[in-house]
Order: sequence, then structure tokens, then C-alpha cells
Amino acid sequence: MSTSPKPFDNLDLQPLAGEWRKGSNDRCLQVTNPYTRATLMSLQMANQQDMDKAFARAEQAQAEWAALPPAARAEVMLKAVSIFDARQEEIINWLIQESGSTRLKATIEWSAARGITLEAASMPNRVHGRIVESNIPGKESRVYRKPLGVVGLISPWNFPLHLTQRSLAPALALGNAVVVKPASDTPVTGGLLLARIFEEAGLPAGLLSVVVGPGSEIGDAFVAHATPALISFTGSTQVGQNIGRIATSGDHLKHVALELGGNSPFVVLSDADVEQAVNAAIFGKFLHSGQICMAINRIIVEGPAYETFCQRFAERARELKCGDPNLMETAVGPVASERQLEGLLEKIKTAKAEGARVLVAGEANGNVLPPHVFADVTADMEIAREEIFGPLVGIQCAKNAEHALELANNTRYGLSSAVFTGSIERGVRFAQGIKAGMTHINDMPVNDEANAPFGGEKNSGVGRFNGDWAIEEFTTDHWITVQHSNRDYPF
Ligand code: NAP
Ligand code: MG
Repeated sequence: MSTSPKPFDNLDLQPLAGEWRKGSNDRCLQVTNPYTRATLMSLQMANQQDMDKAFARAEQAQAEWAALPPAARAEVMLKAVSIFDARQEEIINWLIQESGSTRLKATIEWSAARGITLEAASMPNRVHGRIVESNIPGKESRVYRKPLGVVGLISPWNFPLHLTQRSLAPALALGNAVVVKPASDTPVTGGLLLARIFEEAGLPAGLLSVVVGPGSEIGDAFVAHATPALISFTGSTQVGQNIGRIATSGDHLKHVALELGGNSPFVVLSDADVEQAVNAAIFGKFLHSGQICMAINRIIVEGPAYETFCQRFAERARELKCGDPNLMETAVGPVASERQLEGLLEKIKTAKAEGARVLVAGEANGNVLPPHVFADVTADMEIAREEIFGPLVGIQCAKNAEHALELANNTRYGLSSAVFTGSIERGVRFAQGIKAGMTHINDMPVNDEANAPFGGEKNSGVGRFNGDWAIEEFTTDHWITVQHSNRDYPF
């Protein structure tokens, strides 16, 4: 009989430079449950000195870690996978409580974070150097592939466990040390819980630190810090652009990987199976109350299918179960915070004022905002232009497929996208016209594959995550040449 491990306690402590302790900032962060609005715990934040110590210790620990045989690093990842399994309920419950995830979304997120950990176990053995031919007689050119050193990781609150782990597990597996700054709404699921899992899996102390503190206060110093060789950031375009500026100017130039916002179009061409398109759109829009960077942000339907789609989509949206995220049958749980809710209520007001036709609406109950669906949306309306990050959506009518493509590309973002059509080849041709990092044919734009080449174009960011792309991102080339015979120099 297997018994569950004792749940982690003292999650108000941070792993800072090899020691679990309170931060040295005299202010506390209240961690709250977005559904009940109850305080889960109070956590004393880290300050700049804590961060400096964390980076210094990370640098020391990294050299020894990188020198371990690949199998030793893989083993820590595999052990972490087994801890994910043993603590599945505990992890899912934290996601529900801290981030307002529905049980379904929390389960998907747990599975994605576990999947990337498993994938990371293969990475130490997938790093290859190469020998390059030289034009100079007697010279041998070797390219060594090695870890970057210390990685600074900043993650958001919407998929905190997965989006931290998506960078953390590959970075560690490939021989780097990491300092994580989780989002202030999700310090546990975005960092502290993962640090406990890795500690239990045998990760050496000091290799991973988690600094909890407001991005607006410690963010710039974190990014400008002399130690990290890469800042791996997932979050909003506005903050990401600022990070890009800081990381590439000042005294300490560094690599930067930016996974930013989205405005995914979901296109339904007139030859599509409308019922199946509606099913995909409902899930791709309302999973996690639409708080996903790849979530459907605009629905674009070709003329002949428009009215049927609007009617069926509205019917399905009205039927969705809203409320307690703890229940497996709940589709739409709370949005992440009162601040998010206020922003969404503003967006609803603006959509109405700009003349969008209301198909589905309802009153918020606490932080639970029921689905809002608008039809007859035009490209100039805010609901089409801006990233929504909530359970609202506007439907636009396209005159024909060409117009649908023009509407789909009418955005500053380029993360994910989707097209429904009765002809796969037509879908592929349409997809090739979309300027985005990812396009799905006859499926929704929210991708959940652990090893997909995740990443965006335009204001959605630079860099690709997962699989071979992660190996590229978290390692670097070092070109070393050897002159085997005496060389003749010109002077
Ligand atoms: P955010 O406001 O940009 O925050 C993300 C992270 O950046 C948080 O940890 C935040 O810390 C930190 N931060 C804030 N100001 C900073 C600064 N000046 N310097 C350094 N770090 C700073 O984004 P969010 O509201 O948490 O997340 C939603 C956004 O993330 C959406 O735009 C969404 O599309 C995007 N997103 C993108 C992806 C992707 O893979 N492309 C995935 C998920 C989400 P605090 O919490 O302490 O402020
Ligand atoms: Mg919270």
C-alpha cells in the first residue's frame, strides 16, 4: 500500500542562497485565495541583499553541478517526476487555492509541468558539441556546448507551476543554476513548491533560489544584475519589453528569452464543421477563464457560417458551469484577483459602448465572472485590439477567406492561432499566411504538448521554449581551436 508523503509545511520560507528562511524585507506579502478571498498565508519578502546572496551562491554551486555526469542530473529530474506523482493531489490543491485554477485546469497544469520535467531528464544526454573544418593548416576547431551559467527566471501567475517549470527544469538539467522570481500572486506554485520538490529530489543546496518580492521594486535590479547570463521571462509584453531594454544595455549585457502576450485569432471558414468548431472554441476560450496567453482572443467566422456559429457558441457559453474551482465539473472559476476583475468589467463596458452586440452576459459573483460573448465586433474595437485575459470574447464576421486572413493578422501580437476548415490542405495554406509562432488546424490555439516548439512572433516575444529549442536556449557554444603543427605567420 502506498502512503502519500506528508504535505510540505513552512511554505512561507524561501530557499535563499542555500538556506530556507524568511526574506529580509520588513514587509509581508499576503497570499490569497482568489475564490474565497481568504488569506492563505503571510510571507516576509526578499530584498536586494537576499537577491545578491542568491546570485552569488548560485554562481558557486553551478560549476560543481555542471561538472556532474549527465546521468546524475537526469536522475534528479526523474526523481522530481516521481515526487510530482506522489504529491499530485497536494500540488493540484495548491494551484486551486493560490491561483484560482479549476480542478480541471490544475490537473492539466500539473500534467504539463510533470511532462516538461520528464522531458528535461533526457536533455543532459542531448547536448552535442561539434568539430568544424578549419582552413588553416594543422588547426582543429572544436565547438563545445556548455551551460550558460546562472539563469534569472521571472514567471507569471496564470500557469505559475508550468511556466516556471518550463524554464526551470531544462535550465537545471542542462547544468545551469537558477534564481526564480515568481509572480507575487503565486509565490508558492510559481516557485516555492518547485524548490521543495527539487530539494526532495536531491538538487544540491544553493543551486536554486527563489526570491519573492514585487517586480516593480526588485525587477529592474534582478534583470540588470551582473551574475545571470540569461533572463528567461514569461509575462506581459509591456514588462517584457522593459526587461529586454535593461538586459541589453547597462554594464552587464545578457541573453534574453521573452514569452509575452497574445491575441490569438480563431478562424472558422465556411466549409468547417461548425459544431466541432464551437466545441473547440468553447474550450480554447474559457479554460482558466480565458487567462491564458494562447487563449482565443478573437473569433473570426466566414459569412455563411456566422449566424449559426454565433447562436451555437452563445448557447454553449450560457450552459458553462461557473463558480467553485474545487469541483471537477466547474468550467469557469474565479479570475486571479480583484484587480483583474476590475479590468475585465471595464473592457465589458467599453465593448458595449463601442457598439458590440451582447449575446451572453451576467453578473460577477465575487471574482467569478461568467462568460460574456459579443457579436458584430469590428477590428477597431478594444475587445479585438487588446489582449483580454478573461472569459470575454468578440465574434467578427469575415466576407470571405481572404478577409478572414486579413482580420486574423490585424494585430501586434503573433503567439498562437487556429483555423477550422473542411479541407486540411486549405487549412495548411491558410495557416502559412498567419504571422504567428503557432497555428492549429481543426483544433483550438491553446497547445498543451510538453515538447512543442512554443513561442511567438511580433510583440508576443523572442525565443522558443521546449525540446531542442530549450537545449539551444539554455546552453551556449564555446569555440576552442587547437593548432597541432607550427603555423607560418605572415610577419
Ligand atoms: P506581468 O505583469 O508582466 O508579470 C509577470 C512577471 O513579471 C511577474 O513575476 C511580475 O512580478 C514580474 N514583473 C513585474 N514588473 C517587473 C519589472 N519591472 N521587472 C521585472 N519583472 C517584473 O504579467 P502577468 O500579469 O503576471 O501575466 C499575464 C501576462 O503574461 C499576459 O500578458 C500573458 O499573455 C502573458 N503570458 C505569456 C505567456 C507566454 O508563454 N507567451 C504565458 C503566460 C502568460 P509581480 O507579480 O511581483 O508584479
Ligand atoms: Mg493569490
